[in-house]
Amino acid sequence: MMPYHLLVVAGGSGVRAGGDIPKQYRLLDGVSVLRRTLDAFVRPQTPAPESIRVAINPKHMDWYAAAVQGFAGPLDTPVAGGADRDESVRRGVESFESLPDEAIILVHDAARPFVRPADIGALLACFEKGCAAATLATPVADTLRRTDGQTVGRTDLWAVQTPQAFRLGLLRRAHRIPHGSFTDDAGRVATLGEAVEWVASSPENFKITTADDFALAERMIKSMHRTEFRMGSGFDVHAFDPDGRVMRLCGVAIDGPPGLKGHSDADVGLHALTDALLGTIGAGDIGTFFPPSDPQWKGADSRVFIAHALSLVGRHGGRLVNADITFIGETPRIAPHRSAMQSALSEILRLPPERIGIKATTTEGLGFTGRREGLAAQAVVSIEFST
Ligand code: MG
Repeated sequence: MMPYHLLVVAGGSGVRAGGDIPKQYRLLDGVSVLRRTLDAFVRPQTPAPESIRVAINPKHMDWYAAAVQGFAGPLDTPVAGGADRDESVRRGVESFESLPDEAIILVHDAARPFVRPADIGALLACFEKGCAAATLATPVADTLRRTDGQTVGRTDLWAVQTPQAFRLGLLRRAHRIPHGSFTDDAGRVATLGEAVEWVASSPENFKITTADDFALAERMIKSMHRTEFRMGSGFDVHAFDPDGRVMRLCGVAIDGPPGLKGHSDADVGLHALTDALLGTIGAGDIGTFFPPSDPQWKGADSRVFIAHALSLVGRHGGRLVNADITFIGETPRIAPHRSAMQSALSEILRLPPERIGIKATTTEGLGFTGRREGLAAQAVVSIEFST
């Protein structure tokens, strides 16, 4: 990804959003708008800036300090902004005096905290194709009409957003044009006759301006911190091996005969559990990752399968809440081994034993289990995902 520097414009005194402090310093669900905007650029999925500086009104220094306290990004000293946005950007651009003309600068409004990582990536990708200026924008969906009743064709109309990205040399030239009525920097660059690439963004990347915007932003943030529970189920069967000396169930060795036939250690309980875990993230089943045709899983300890499924669930942001396993068969008797299985699973799953159910039933002599041909197991898990 192209290296870049970020300039955040936060000099405004806007109180249209309500409240008695400028909107960029108001708290949204406990965190200031400016801080949320800065945080958007240091998420793991976001291409990381080389440096970040914020243009502020020097009178806002206390609010600014509170907003950036503990911020982990490469933050420079703030730049003193000017009377309006255009002037604040110009001063910010001047402050990059030590950077070469080829450097890429992203200019972003402090009041757009919902910019998406993928959109920042798409903006930067334009520079790999050789463009020198690009902006996020979203096509206008509403019919536009002037107050005199004239409808404005919307086919070529885009609502311009930020970040806007520029080679610094071009941005320097654009800000040498005498002060006009520019409300964004891509507008200045276009005045020079230079092409600006349009990168389609999302209406989510709106600029918080009014009290209604603020209320919408709060609703969006609340809906982001959603916890959801998912369930997964798994089922497995292994045939008895009449000559098997030992059987492994949920990681516990039980003296045979019989044992269980299988390519791996034939731990039918852990296999059902692996499938249940994979089921919560739509990741296929145990055979997807550990095909019996692959010789490396011959005699494998099934705890490896569980560990892999758990790590996949963890990567999706999931946390195991409980697991419940039922064995179905005439033999062995499970009750004498229940607590050993609970403690083995407690270690494997890193769960307290009271969140691990181990149960067993016969099928009253019916079917293949009734005929003592094999043992079946089913598992159910519940996983909490925080998004
Ligand atoms: Mg199996």
